[in-house]
Amino acid sequence: MNRLRQIYSILISLSGIALIVWGMIQLGDFSPLRTFLLLVLLAVLSQTSMTAFVGGTSGVSVSSAISLATASLFGPVAGAMVAAMAEAGFWAYRVYTKQIGNRDRQALIELLGVNVGMNSLAIFLAGLTYHFVLDQLGPATFLGQTIPWLTAALVGDQVNLWLLSIIIFLAHGPKPSDTWKENRWAIPINVLVMSVGGGLLSVAVSQFDLLGIAIFFLPIILSAYSFRLYVSQTKKQMDQLEELVESRTRDLATANEELAELSRDKDAFLAVLTHDMRTPLTSIKGYASILRDRDLGRDQQTHIAKIILRSEENLLEIVNNILDIEKLQSGTPILLERNEFDLALLVKSAAEPLESLAMEKNITLCYDEVPSPVMVTADERKIQRVLTNLISNAIKYTPEGGEVTVGTRLKGSYALFEVVDTGYGIPEDELPHIFERFRRVKRHQKVAVGTGLGLAIVKSLVDAHDGEISVVSQEEVGSAFTVKLPV
Ligand code: ADP
Repeated sequence: MNRLRQIYSILISLSGIALIVWGMIQLGDFSPLRTFLLLVLLAVLSQTSMTAFVGGTSGVSVSSAISLATASLFGPVAGAMVAAMAEAGFWAYRVYTKQIGNRDRQALIELLGVNVGMNSLAIFLAGLTYHFVLDQLGPATFLGQTIPWLTAALVGDQVNLWLLSIIIFLAHGPKPSDTWKENRWAIPINVLVMSVGGGLLSVAVSQFDLLGIAIFFLPIILSAYSFRLYVSQTKKQMDQLEELVESRTRDLATANEELAELSRDKDAFLAVLTHDMRTPLTSIKGYASILRDRDLGRDQQTHIAKIILRSEENLLEIVNNILDIEKLQSGTPILLERNEFDLALLVKSAAEPLESLAMEKNITLCYDEVPSPVMVTADERKIQRVLTNLISNAIKYTPEGGEVTVGTRLKGSYALFEVVDTGYGIPEDELPHIFERFRRVKRHQKVAVGTGLGLAIVKSLVDAHDGEISVVSQEEVGSAFTVKLPV
């Protein structure tokens, strides 16, 4: 590949040199010579100033228009010479201003040779095209005034781009067609600048000679500058637009995540409705049918009535939890009805009604029968709800024969209460999420009915009191929930 690239570079450079030499030989025929030399100078100036003011190193620019105009006035070889000079001058300027990185001398000469060769070859072929098409159409017609310029500009631009794509392929590997595609956005601009600019300049010079250059050159070069500036600005805006699109896409991704979370909530909610509410309902229906259809003794009747009532309580708890979480999630702040009360006494009155539940599972529920007072100022009913939730959870998630202990104490400016059980415990990886809505430990779902809402509600209520809730737990050993409330 390297060898091929060298051969290719040499061939291009040689054709460039050949065109220059050929031009030198013909120099005497370029008449008036001063006009030709002025065009050379303008081409060099515009090529270098384009890089200096606007940036970008595209070989096809205003100087190509000047070269094409020269090709139309003095012949293709003269045009090729102007192109070669413009390119050489431009390279000299880049070397002088150190715009070309640290390359060794040989690489520089190769680059210079290839660029000069490519541009002069492109203009030479464009010039040939111009004269050929003009001969076919005749200059007197409107088509004869426009088509030669457009076709010549297109040929010039394409020869340049393809020669460049091939050297990039030989040097770096990307397919020439890919390089062409990447650069095709510039084709209309280049063709327009070359054909319109070249055409105008050519007419101006043939009509007014040097004065024509003075009159027409400035507007042409200025409009080309502004055109390129406009394009580079547009490109910048496009980049900004891309950034905007990217940031909007990120926003959309976040929104999608939120939507996914909502959808998970909805699924969890439906699971609660279909599974957790159905279990107590089925049980109520089943036992009520037994009561209706069978002749039972008084004791059996009482037993079944108890089961039905318990199922109903379960249902009520689920419904209450759903209603509560709705309220708590709606964003309206929780209104607290604060009053001073004895927390220790409240623990006792919350625990007592749950004793029968504990007894059914042969669980010992321990709390102070005659507690020493722990006074707090808080919303008593809401704190009772917290306590009931935590104690019934402890009973729910403790196997038969276990123990649940509730205690209260004062610690600094906080009143503390703790609900400790000897139950199934919570796996370590679940602990950080246990207060989230609908969160339930998978294994526990077989053990007890629930919604996964209780702890979320408890946390919201504790937070509303500026309190703190924490949990320590170990699987198969038990859990301890601690609530801290400011007194
Ligand atoms: P649920 O209605 O499922 O009881 P909660 O929000 O009250 O909902 O509790 C969420 C989950 O936390 C429960 O499903 C259970 O897995 C776990 N959990 C709560 N309390 C305890 C406890 N004392 N011991 C073990 N696991 C518990």
